Amino acid sequence: MDYLWSPWRYQYIVNIKNTKHCVFCIDSSAESDEKKFILFRGKYNFVMLNIFPYTTGHVLVSPYEHVSDFSDCSPEQTAEMMQLAKQCKLALERSYEPNGFNIGMNVGKCAGAGVEHHVHLHIVPRWIGDANFMSIVGESRVLPETLEVTYQKLRKFFKE
Ligand SMILES: [Zn+2]
Repeated sequence: MDYLWSPWRYQYIVNIKNTKHCVFCIDSSAESDEKKFILFRGKYNFVMLNIFPYTTGHVLVSPYEHVSDFSDCSPEQTAEMMQLAKQCKLALERSYEPNGFNIGMNVGKCAGAGVEHHVHLHIVPRWIGDANFMSIVGESRVLPETLEVTYQKLRKFFKE
């Protein structure tokens, strides 16, 4: 625990934690987008599948910039984020015919953010009865298809 008393080392760890291993800090090359389940790259934000989905079709919209506070996002980032959220919702409606959606952000760990240092917006399709079923089975998730299948289904809605 000596690093607690070494500010430079602490900063080093914080930096690594904040950027190097951040799943939302994607590289500029789109070559491995399919492997990373990145569906679309916009000007300020990108769309990707959540690899730990709450339901099938759980997608995320995130700015390229490593920004931890939603309030710090520029008007351009915010506007495009919402525009992409609409596009995700439409793609999910056409692919999965959900009964509803949860669209939102978990800001801070206490609010349930898995990655609290990089803003991301969740778009989660919901079906009547899915929550009831999941509350019965506790932490189990109902995932009737693989991420690869979901990716192929949704990707066509993001091609220009
Ligand atoms: Zn990041």
